[in-house]
Amino acid sequence: MNALARRLEQRLEQIRAADLYRVRRIIDGAHGVQIRVDGRSCINFCSNDYLGLAADPRVAAAARRALDASGTGSGAAALVSGYNREHCALEEALAAFLRRPRALLFSSGWAANLGVLRALLGKNDMLIADELNHASLIDGGRLSGATYVRVAHANGAAYAAALARTAGRSDTDLVLVATDGVFSMDGDLAPLPELVRLCAAHDAVLMVDDAHGLGVLGAGGRGIAEHWSALCGETLVPQIQVATLGKALGCGGAFVAGDEALIEYLIQRARSWVFSTAPPPALAAAARAALAIVASDEGAHRRARLLANVERFRTGCRQCGIAMTDSATPIQPLILGSETATLALSRRLFEAGFWVAAIRPPTVPPGTSRLRITLSAAHTEAQIDRLVEVLAQGIEARAA
Ligand SMILES: *Cc1c(COP(=O)(O)O)cnc(C)c1O
Repeated sequence: MNALARRLEQRLEQIRAADLYRVRRIIDGAHGVQIRVDGRSCINFCSNDYLGLAADPRVAAAARRALDASGTGSGAAALVSGYNREHCALEEALAAFLRRPRALLFSSGWAANLGVLRALLGKNDMLIADELNHASLIDGGRLSGATYVRVAHANGAAYAAALARTAGRSDTDLVLVATDGVFSMDGDLAPLPELVRLCAAHDAVLMVDDAHGLGVLGAGGRGIAEHWSALCGETLVPQIQVATLGKALGCGGAFVAGDEALIEYLIQRARSWVFSTAPPPALAAAARAALAIVASDEGAHRRARLLANVERFRTGCRQCGIAMTDSATPIQPLILGSETATLALSRRLFEAGFWVAAIRPPTVPPGTSRLRITLSAAHTEAQIDRLVEVLAQGIEARAA
């Protein structure tokens, strides 16, 4: 056996022995609440398609029209010859929607976070980041070479302390605070008002990755900044906003929104953007159609449905004595701790016709394995009630 084969066999065995082995399940047909998984029809409670747009016929029709007009491939990176009018139109629509001067389309949220952090930060700079940030913010921070300061989760005092220690630095050195808006595995929110205030006081840059807030939070679906702005009665604007188009918008790709100089600089220097083929024009067309729905009365109606579904799920769990966190977003984790217990409950749910994936390390910290239940505007009350019932039975069976 050669060195690589030995290493892989040993590591895969370790992963298996720890109940951390992961496999993919095959979906047939469209993504949605009703989904066909490994040949079996079930109800999906582990999707980020919060508004039910991933298989919306109007979004698909927009993609189809663009496919007819522009074909499949963009043909090159945007700076070479890959920048289609569809990309430009989407960027303008996103910037207008978020009321920021500019937006820049990336092929994924992962690429956006890596590109921004690597482009903006260097070894004399400092990144202050929540310990539960998405892996792409962590890797981007590491790649940048900046001093990396991890702070306790969503803890304003920890940010204040870290920022206080930056006093007296050279005014050419940058301090950047980076956080998820909605934390992807916990569903709780970054303390945005406090972060905006602290960053202003310490001349630090605030970067918010609102992958799970865009389309979901705020009366207009503009995400975490709109949500907090309404609560505190002033307009909060993170200097750098990142969000993905693959979650509530039901498409794929991501973007960075900010001021003119930020976007122009990223166009010059964000390596994951410069050296990467532009997304298919049809994807941009689809995302623009999804954005139009998100911004419309229908979008507001879907958000209201989504919130009502979240509330129904939480009330049901409370009545059945299921221990929940205080997340008020569509991400509702049921933290079990052990990998084995999480897998067992996930399997039991699948037997009962519900798909809720088991989330285990390294996606979450050791000892916090969980079912990450996500609600959609497209779930019916009956589906939610039945899920709660099966969950309660599963938890009871475990305790017995
Ligand atoms: C999903 C996610 C990403 C990655 O986005 P992709 O477009 O899937 O690569 C980045 N940040 C957060 C917080 C996410 O949840």
